Amino acid sequence: MTDATQVREELRRWIEAEWDPELSLVEWRARLADAGWACPTWPREWCGRSLPAAFAEIVADELASAGVPGAPDGVGMHLAAPTMLEHGSVDLKRRLLRPTVTGELIWCQLFSEPGAGSDLAGLTTRAERDGDDWIVTGQKVWNTGAAQAAFGLLLARTDWDVPKHRGITYFAIPMQQPGIEVRPLRQMNGHASFNEVFLDNARVPASNVIGAVNDGWKVALTTLAHERRLAPSRRIASGRRITGRAWREAIAERVAVSEPHKWYPQRAGRTDLVIERAAAAGKATDPVVRQEIVKLVALAWSAKWTAQRAAAARALGRPPGPEGSLGKLASSNIARAAARVHALIAGPSGMLAGSDSPLDGIIAEILLSVPAISIAGGTDEIQHNIIAERILGLPRESETDRDVPFRSVPRNT
Ligand SMILES: Cc1cc2nc3c(=O)[nH]c(=O)nc-3n(C[C@H](O)[C@H](O)[C@H](O)COP(=O)(O)OP(=O)(O)OC[C@H]3O[C@@H](n4cnc5c(N)ncnc54)[C@H](O)[C@@H]3O)c2cc1C
Repeated sequence: MTDATQVREELRRWIEAEWDPELSLVEWRARLADAGWACPTWPREWCGRSLPAAFAEIVADELASAGVPGAPDGVGMHLAAPTMLEHGSVDLKRRLLRPTVTGELIWCQLFSEPGAGSDLAGLTTRAERDGDDWIVTGQKVWNTGAAQAAFGLLLARTDWDVPKHRGITYFAIPMQQPGIEVRPLRQMNGHASFNEVFLDNARVPASNVIGAVNDGWKVALTTLAHERRLAPSRRIASGRRITGRAWREAIAERVAVSEPHKWYPQRAGRTDLVIERAAAAGKATDPVVRQEIVKLVALAWSAKWTAQRAAAARALGRPPGPEGSLGKLASSNIARAAARVHALIAGPSGMLAGSDSPLDGIIAEILLSVPAISIAGGTDEIQHNIIAERILGLPRESETDRDVPFRSVPRNT
C-alpha cells in the first residue's frame, strides 16, 4: 500500500537533491522523467512510477508547492501520450514518449475533415503503403496548434473495401515536411487557433503506426475518451521561487502553448465573472438577474461535484462511467447559461469590443466563443447519442453506411 505522506516526503527529498534552477527546462524535465515524477501514474519503464491514479494530483501539488516546473500541457501529454501508452509499439514509445514529456515534441490532432467531423469514421484522407513508408494525401481541418506542432495524431483510410470503421489506420506523422501545408483559419472571435492541413504525398514511416494497420478506430476511441475529460491545465508554482533558466523557459513555453487557447476561458462562459459584473453594472439587486445568477451557479457547482465524484471513482480504480459525456454536456449548458447571464447584465454594451467596452471586450469575446464548447471534442448531439446508446441502452441510431464496404458509400467528392 503506497502512502501519500511517504510519497510526498520522498518527492521532497528528491527535489532537494536534484532541483537546479539553472538547468534548461528540457534538462530538468529529463530528470523528472527518468525518476518517474513527471507522470507518476504511468508505468515505471515509461517515465512513471506506476502509482495509483489518486497520486497524480498529490505529486502535481507537491511540485507546485516546491516551486519547480512539471511536465508540459497540451495535446502531447493529454492525448498523444495516453494513446501511445495504451496502443503504441515499444519502439514508438521509446522514441516519442520521453521527448513528449520533456516538451521537446509538440503535437496536434489531425482527425476532422471537411466532410468528416461527427461522422469521423467517414474520413477520406488516404494512406498507401510504399516500402517502409506510408504516403498520405487528403485534407484535415479545425486542427488546433498544427502550425507549431512537430507531430500530428493522424487518422487515414488504408482499406476502402471494408466497412468504414474497419479500414482506418492511426499514425504519428512528422509535420515538418514538404508534403504538409498548414493554413491558419480566422474565427469569428478574432483569434486564429485552428488550421487547415493539406497533405499531398506526405510521408510517414510504417514504424509510426499506432496500434495495428486498419485497427485505428479502436485507437481513436482512446484519444476521444481522453479528450472528453477536458483535462485542467497544470498549475504554475507560487510566485516567490519562479526564478532561473528552467522557469524562464517554462513561462515562455506556457505563453507559446497557450496562445491558441487564450480564449478558452471565455469559451467556458466565465461564470466566475457574473457576480462582479452584476455589481459593476448596478444590477446585483435586480430580482431577475439574481435569479438567473443563482440558476447558473447551482448548475456550475453540481457539475463540479459530479466531476469530483468521477475523479474519486477513478482514484479508486473504477472503470470510466458516463461522466465524460455528462461532464462535456454540462460544460456546454453552463457556458450557454453564463453567456445568457452576461448578456442580461451587459445589455447592448456586451456587443462592444475595445478598450472602452466592458472588461476590454471580454464580454463580447464570451458571447462569440461559447458556441465552440458544444462542438469541440464531439458535439452536444453526439454526446446525447453516446449517452442514449451506450449508457441508457436505447436502440442505435439507424446508419445505412455502417456495414457496407466504404468504397460503395455515396459521398460528396
Ligand atoms: C475549439 C475547437 C477545437 C477543435 N480542435 C480540433 C483539433 O485539434 N483537431 C481536429 O481534428 N478537430 C478539431 N475540432 C473539430 C471538431 O472535432 C469538429 O468540429 C466536431 O467533431 C464536429 O464536426 P463538424 O464540425 O464537421 O460538424 P458536423 O459533424 O458537420 O455537424 C454539424 C451539426 O450536425 C449535428 N450532427 C451531426 N451528426 C449528427 C447525428 N448523428 N445526430 C445528431 N446530430 C448530428 C452536429 O451535432 C452539429 O450540430 C475542433 C473544434 C472546435 C470547435
